[in-house]
Amino acid sequence: MFRPADEVPAGSVLRADICIAGGGAAGITLARELRGSGASVILLESGGFDPDPDDQALYTARSSGDRYDPLATRLRYLGGATNHWSGWCRPIDPLHFEPRGWIANSGWPISRSDLDPYYARAAKVCELPPSFGDSTAGDRGDNEGVDRWFQSLFEDDAITSTEYWFSPPTRFGSRYRDDLELSSETTAYLRANLVNVANSDGRVTQFEVATLDGNNFAVEAGAYVIALGGIENARMLLASRDSSPAGLGNDGGLVGRYFMDHFDQTMGTMLLTSPIDGAYQPGRLDQRRAAITLTPAAQREHEIGGIALVVESFPFWKPDEADYKTVRANDAADILRGLAGGTSVPYSLQVAPSRSRTRRAG
Ligand SMILES: Cc1cc2nc3c(=O)[nH]c(=O)nc-3n(C[C@H](O)[C@H](O)[C@H](O)COP(=O)(O)OP(=O)(O)OC[C@H]3O[C@@H](n4cnc5c(N)ncnc54)[C@H](O)[C@@H]3O)c2cc1C
Repeated sequence: MFRPADEVPAGSVLRADICIAGGGAAGITLARELRGSGASVILLESGGFDPDPDDQALYTARSSGDRYDPLATRLRYLGGATNHWSGWCRPIDPLHFEPRGWIANSGWPISRSDLDPYYARAAKVCELPPSFGDSTAGDRGDNEGVDRWFQSLFEDDAITSTEYWFSPPTRFGSRYRDDLELSSETTAYLRANLVNVANSDGRVTQFEVATLDGNNFAVEAGAYVIALGGIENARMLLASRDSSPAGLGNDGGLVGRYFMDHFDQTMGTMLLTSPIDGAYQPGRLDQRRAAITLTPAAQREHEIGGIALVVESFPFWKPDEADYKTVRANDAADILRGLAGGTSVPYSLQVAPSRSRTRRAG
């Protein structure tokens, strides 16, 4: 069930077996998974069912160094960033869990095989097809045409193709709201802001909660989960200094050090003498989409990271228009020069996932 946090008696201490702070993809999924476990769950979500400027303003932050907008990228209401995520999904490559000598601090304490048992469950939550991650399964649709093109173009065995799958994209707040409402184990408090992870000798003793209207209460639980999103998890730990001035769990000084985002750019335009059969149209996301990538062996040999390029039909080019002068392409001189002979077909090379295809119908 859902409860407004302002109705909790001020100064009270609520108790549950598990307290989850944050009702985004992680928090909602965990609360759903705990249904039927017999454990009582309190979920604390800062926002409500819908966006609200006052709640969203709590995400205001100053960003230094690389350009990043901490207000526009995050959404502070039930469902979190899934309220505007694009739905691109792909299992992580095994190589990217391994220490790679040419990438500082690389290597995870887990491997891809540790995650393998969970991908099918995660796919279901994201409403992906059961074949998620299996490039050999089922009808590959347009990918067959793109694959043929990849094979004809690249004799170099450093290059191969990979695939992306697409969630509808699932908006976790609206899609799973009823599950939380009907769950007998879960009480979800809305407009409940975790403001301090109270701790003693490095052990969490309470979640301290405040509302924008001035209510304050606490939650004590057998287990505490911080699911506030990538930036906010670190920020909350760093700000929770009851037992250490460096912040909770930050004795090594590493909390928040490894935040990263993906590139989101058009890398260039490619001019081919004949069209690619089944190339993707911008703005349309299908169930699966092929991309050019480097083999693990090539990444090791050339000491570079993983990257995938999606090849798309050029946004302004229409194959049925014989007059290539209609190609506007922001008047990019090089593209027009390439088209002058009337035999070139332009494709844009996007680092995947890319911004121009953030939505598909439905
Ligand atoms: C524009 C955009 C497009 C994206 N596209 C993709 C994509 O195509 N594929 C992909 O895999 N990923 C994509 N992502 C990333 C994806 O959305 C996130 O990785 C995912 O939502 C993270 O889930 P989360 O639960 O960790 O955090 P969030 O979804 O950010 O949820 C955090 C929740 O915690 C709440 N909260 C915050 N602070 C507090 C507090 N102090 N107390 C209580 N509650 C609090 C927030 O209101 C929010 O509901 C995209 C992200 C953006 C911004």
